[in-house]
Amino acid sequence: MVELFPRSVEEILPARETIEGAGVHLRRAFGHPEVPKLDPFLLLDDFRSENPAEFVAGFPWHPHRGIETVTYMLDGRVDHEDSLGNAGVIGPGDVQWMTAGGGIIHQEMPKPLDGKMGGFQLWVNLPASQKMMDPRYRELKEARIPAVEPAPGVRVRVIAGTVAGVRGPVRDIVVDPEYLDVRLEEGRVLDHPVTPGHRAFAYLLGGEGRFEVEGERIDSEHLVLFGDGERVRIEAGSRPLRFLLISGKPVGEPVAWWGPIVMNNRRELEQAVEEYHNGTFLKHDSPTGSRKRRVQP
Ligand code: MN
Repeated sequence: MVELFPRSVEEILPARETIEGAGVHLRRAFGHPEVPKLDPFLLLDDFRSENPAEFVAGFPWHPHRGIETVTYMLDGRVDHEDSLGNAGVIGPGDVQWMTAGGGIIHQEMPKPLDGKMGGFQLWVNLPASQKMMDPRYRELKEARIPAVEPAPGVRVRVIAGTVAGVRGPVRDIVVDPEYLDVRLEEGRVLDHPVTPGHRAFAYLLGGEGRFEVEGERIDSEHLVLFGDGERVRIEAGSRPLRFLLISGKPVGEPVAWWGPIVMNNRRELEQAVEEYHNGTFLKHDSPTGSRKRRVQP
């Protein structure tokens, strides 16, 4: 049997309280200050909440360019609408993988179900050669995301990537990501290969566990950034452990970031903002003439 070189824990980042959109209280696992540490990933927000006042203001119409935004819901729903003419609901267990590419304008409005609302939004960078690609949009309903049990007491929802020979439904993404929602019963271990050279991190949703062989125990709402290697080994402590395990191929380019737009340099950012204000931001053919619609920032 081939011994795979295990990744060790490089850094542990606590999530921090942030207010975003029109007044949504959330925890940010990482964002602008961490660039380029998590390349190709730019941001991860944890917006789990039991207090509707913290999120009903939502994220009214706003643009994106140069990135992908990935929304994964656990509770509640997000009603969304965009300049491609899509409109729908992201419900519990659903994933929306949205490639903004050259430009999209959308709104994302959270609504509680049974008083609860929660999920995650990940921002994935695009390389210069693909920042202006046509926008596209994939919505995966809960039932289409496979749940596998590679070992007793180990349960994984495979959004992107492969576990125990089962491949997740999100494919053909530029940075070749893996996105797993992992649950371990107490004391159980996930031993999982991760492509060498890809950046990998785990974000803890609940419980506590060890993220390297003989490592210290790490608590919920922390992010574990792994060093390079061929696999990760994660062991639940004395309670069940749940975490997102995410990896992808680094972009390795300069990052120029203004709000929801992420390009390579300041000139491209200024151009994006100017186009947004003069109504030429959208490059895609859109229904109902929304290319020309003025949407206030
Ligand atoms: Mn957005």
